[in-house]
Amino acid sequence: MKKQTKEKALAPLLLLAYLSLASSQISYADSDPVEINNEGLNLLNAGHSAEAAAKFSKAIELKPNDPLFESNYGYALLRSGKLEEAMSHLKKSLELNPNFDLAWLNLGVAYQQKGEKQSAVNALERYLKLAANDAQSQRIRASLDLMKKELRNSPVDNARDDYLASITANTKSRWQEMPIKVFIDDGSKLEGYKSEYLDLLKSAFNEWQAASGGAVSYKFVDKSEPADIKVDWTRDKSKIVSVAEGGDTSYELDSKGIKAAHIQLLLLDPLPQKLSPQLMSWITLHEIGHATGLLGHSPDPGDVMYMNARITDDFAHLSERDKATIRKFYTENLGKDWLALNDEGIEAAKAGDYALALSKYQEAMKASPKDSEIPRKNAIRSQYAWAVKLIKSGDLKTPEEHFKAALRLELEKRDENMPLLIKSYANYLRMLQREKEASALEQKYH
Ligand SMILES: [Zn+2]
Repeated sequence: MKKQTKEKALAPLLLLAYLSLASSQISYADSDPVEINNEGLNLLNAGHSAEAAAKFSKAIELKPNDPLFESNYGYALLRSGKLEEAMSHLKKSLELNPNFDLAWLNLGVAYQQKGEKQSAVNALERYLKLAANDAQSQRIRASLDLMKKELRNSPVDNARDDYLASITANTKSRWQEMPIKVFIDDGSKLEGYKSEYLDLLKSAFNEWQAASGGAVSYKFVDKSEPADIKVDWTRDKSKIVSVAEGGDTSYELDSKGIKAAHIQLLLLDPLPQKLSPQLMSWITLHEIGHATGLLGHSPDPGDVMYMNARITDDFAHLSERDKATIRKFYTENLGKDWLALNDEGIEAAKAGDYALALSKYQEAMKASPKDSEIPRKNAIRSQYAWAVKLIKSGDLKTPEEHFKAALRLELEKRDENMPLLIKSYANYLRMLQREKEASALEQKYH
């Protein structure tokens, strides 16, 4: 039996907010609403959302009922943190022109910011229909897939002041030894890199450490070996699992906890928005949260561990719920992880205690249904090995229930063990002179 101890799990990382501004800048005379709109766009690009919002508002005053101005105004308000107002202008824009693609995109982003994923999905799908060949489509499609995946997950009952339940529904793997050694690769030769990003990265580590109340600590080391968490900068999108993600954390887990994590930070602009220090502050905090063991997402848009970056001009900081969650994650008894239970099952099976092994695999499947494939395979093998052991010992009656149980598990998800199982089960039936049943079995599952 091969021991399955290593899993490379991929955190569904962040979606960089793909924001949209109408980028065609037409030049007109001063005090023309179009000119004022363009001034607003320039202010937005420079990160002055409140001033930009004032410009768009002025443009609307001069020329009411313009869907573009309404959409830009809505977006500037979104960036200023005025979500409700933003949404009403985006909706107004769509009333004026129901096929205005950019307004659907901005509205989708606004719904994401509000935590209304289903509405966000609907709006973004509408956008994709209208702008199918847009350069951003691939990124948006990927982010849609991620949101739909989160929508499919069964809802988790979180406490009011933390989202520990959402996290532990994914995994309970923690780092076992502190301090966690962190190696940060040099990104200074890469286009788009800013030394400010390194400062933000380091302070993000410090912020998590402080939030944990001493339960988590990091130590920066000069060499990549032996480091626990490695951080790279990259401009290579192919290194990032999903194009929806502006960063990526992959990790190795074993039955004891997290063994290694690798953070990659993408130095490309999340079109058409510029990658800014503000956005980088959110990305680094978010990825470090994943690398420290928070492998899921918070359902609350106010938390750094929410699936989408906040679209504001402010620097990101951990919320009280982020802080409470990391503290609890490292100080509370979380129960056993599926990997640990699976390992206990393997040990019991090795010792020939199949009953114990099966109960451990059962628990492992329950602890994390989405990771049930490995414990299920192990359970099939244990049922089969148990049947064989009984036959060898001269018991010809009891093995049948184990063959049946193995078959039930196989039918939940057929794997490569199926042919051997059917062959053995049929041979067993023939041994009992039950030829008809044996052939029926072979025919049914051949
Ligand atoms: Zn994430």
